[in-house]
Amino acid sequence: MAFELPPLPYDYSALEPTIDTATMKLHHDMHHAAYVKNLNAALEKHPNLQSKSAEDLIRDLNAVPEDIRGAVRNNGGGHVNHSMFWKIMKPKGGGDPSGLIAEAIQKSFGSFKDFQAKFNDAGVKQFGSGWVWLAGKRSGEVQILSTPNQDSPISQGLFPIFGNDVWEHAYYLKYNNRRPEYLAAWWNVVNWDEINKRYASLKSGQLEPALAR
Ligand code: MN
Repeated sequence: MAFELPPLPYDYSALEPTIDTATMKLHHDMHHAAYVKNLNAALEKHPNLQSKSAEDLIRDLNAVPEDIRGAVRNNGGGHVNHSMFWKIMKPKGGGDPSGLIAEAIQKSFGSFKDFQAKFNDAGVKQFGSGWVWLAGKRSGEVQILSTPNQDSPISQGLFPIFGNDVWEHAYYLKYNNRRPEYLAAWWNVVNWDEINKRYASLKSGQLEPALAR
């Protein structure tokens, strides 16, 4: 069974004005679709890996045959990262976090504002394409990190609680080269309910919220 592009959980225009309709269409229908297509193409050479989840494939990249390791790293990562990304945003999102994730942020960063400043800064400083993350350990401890390309915290043994895509394809049509402006505006569409679900799944030991194939 091949991996499939999950549908957007809302309309292309739902995140306006923070993320414009044209960007959402390109990002989901072209970029994410390409990661899925290329992941499936790579796995055709090793059908025994087709039953694994994308998370399992990128969790231990050394176990992936060398001839497709790069393709799985980039496209498996791209599929996992974007499948998370659509869900951790929503129309009329944003505001202050609540629940367990609010407590974890306060404990590690002092305040939500300080956390946002550090997260945005890490996103600005990620040179070239990549992601900025709040990642967690099984213990529930959280940390900010950035990764290049489509690399996932999963490959470092960390759980991606949520992340923002800082590839130019995520913001360039509307924000041009103003990545800091995009990072600042993005908090208006963050879906804290979904993020709390993901954090709860980490703390309960069920590391993967189900990912559509
Ligand atoms: Mn992207």
